[in-house]
Amino acid sequence: MEYVMQAHLQEGSSPSDEHPQVEWWHIAHAGARVALCGRELDPGAPRQSTDAWGTAGSQPFCHSCGALYLRQVP
Ligand SMILES: [Zn+2]
Repeated sequence: MEYVMQAHLQEGSSPSDEHPQVEWWHIAHAGARVALCGRELDPGAPRQSTDAWGTAGSQPFCHSCGALYLRQVP
């Protein structure tokens, strides 16, 4: 199963902004519209590879998604 990290943007920030302000990085199954924590994702929001997981690039991350992700990935 493949995973991606997808941003939940801060209120008032839009995916079309030059520098969208990320409130949380969620983790979702690739292609899913809903994060592991159950939160709906904006398909236009920035994504990044889960390779960034555990690095500064994944901050701030959603702790619910983090816990679920760690349980699903050996
Ligand atoms: Zn989440």
